[in-house]
Amino acid sequence: MSFHLHQIAGKNAEKTKAHNRRVVLGYLRGQPAGRAEIAKASGLSTQTVSNLMAELVTEGLVVPTGRRRAARGQPPVVYAFNPSGAAVLGFEVRPDTLTMVLTDLGGTALVTRQIPLAQTDPAHVLGQMAMLAQAHMPHMPVLGAGLVIPGPFGVDGLSGVGPTALPDWDPAQIPLQAEAALGLPVHFDKDATAAALAEGMAGAASGLSSYAFLYFGTGLGLGVVAQGQPIRGAFGNAGEVGHIIVHPGGLICECGNAGCLEQYASRLSVQRHLIAMGALPPDGTGLDAALVQLLANQNQDLMVWVDTAAEALSRAIGLLENLFDPQCTVLGGALPDALIDLLIARLSLPPGSVARHSGRRNPRVLRGTSGTLTAAFGAAALVIHDTVTPRLDARAPDIAATESPPCP
Ligand SMILES: [Zn+2]
Repeated sequence: MSFHLHQIAGKNAEKTKAHNRRVVLGYLRGQPAGRAEIAKASGLSTQTVSNLMAELVTEGLVVPTGRRRAARGQPPVVYAFNPSGAAVLGFEVRPDTLTMVLTDLGGTALVTRQIPLAQTDPAHVLGQMAMLAQAHMPHMPVLGAGLVIPGPFGVDGLSGVGPTALPDWDPAQIPLQAEAALGLPVHFDKDATAAALAEGMAGAASGLSSYAFLYFGTGLGLGVVAQGQPIRGAFGNAGEVGHIIVHPGGLICECGNAGCLEQYASRLSVQRHLIAMGALPPDGTGLDAALVQLLANQNQDLMVWVDTAAEALSRAIGLLENLFDPQCTVLGGALPDALIDLLIARLSLPPGSVARHSGRRNPRVLRGTSGTLTAAFGAAALVIHDTVTPRLDARAPDIAATESPPCP
């Protein structure tokens, strides 16, 4: 056995310290406070808080903002979270596009870049990522990078299959390769989960603790946040909503099903529809510009797609409401805002839903406000979330796992 007790104790001490840092940063992100107040609120000793604060001030993540009046004795120094004390990188890889954002710790964009991808083999894309990062390194420290791709991960017959997928992107290898390419710790996740976090940090879901986010990437993904934590599932694949069947016996999907949601409501489905109608060239190029133009002209071919997509989405949203009881469902991602608004306007949500209750203050469905870069912002949000949010479950989901253990 190569394990020694002092190694295990050391690992535990590191883990505890990382946890305590998250507790302190998370508290200060909510409001400025003195050390004694943080200690009282967190249950940490004043000495532990003092040691952590000294470290966080040196790193620039926390700044003293003055002294608070006290009834007696030395008035305590008040500290505040410093969003501009460090930066994080976020990358989204889609089959045709690489997006990079650089944000501060408040999620505010410092740099955004988007480049087309002619090829998607990991070596090429990781090289492009490193080049973009190099060209835009800020003067402040960079805490890490988030990298998000479409799911699902490690599913026979579903991963790396079809035009919405990235073949050869092995989740067991990619995070390590990305860390080597970027020279930074990398948080790896599914695009929709990350996009949901971004909408919660600074978007339509700000202030909500439980919500569902339907993400238009190339296909259609779902991120669910419940009580402030993203639901990832055992293998990081929770929310593979594109392949739920909304029309039994309907359009054949690459996954082997017939009538999958993604076949009716996704970038890919609108692209295929417009090609078939002759409104796009056969290779489907120029989709974004065409969508804006066709929308402005109230183009009938596009309106036919909108009605079909809205019907399919209505079924899916009713299902999500009854499954997760979200405060609201947000629609967002790589479609023009005006098109998402139109889809929402044409929804006909099922009446039999737990979302219908008298205390409701928000609409059942909202459009996201992070725009087409939402998953890349979400990738950055993964790093910020990990920096300031204590983990309830110390064990991260094993998205690199390829084999499930037998169920008991
Ligand atoms: Zn499918």
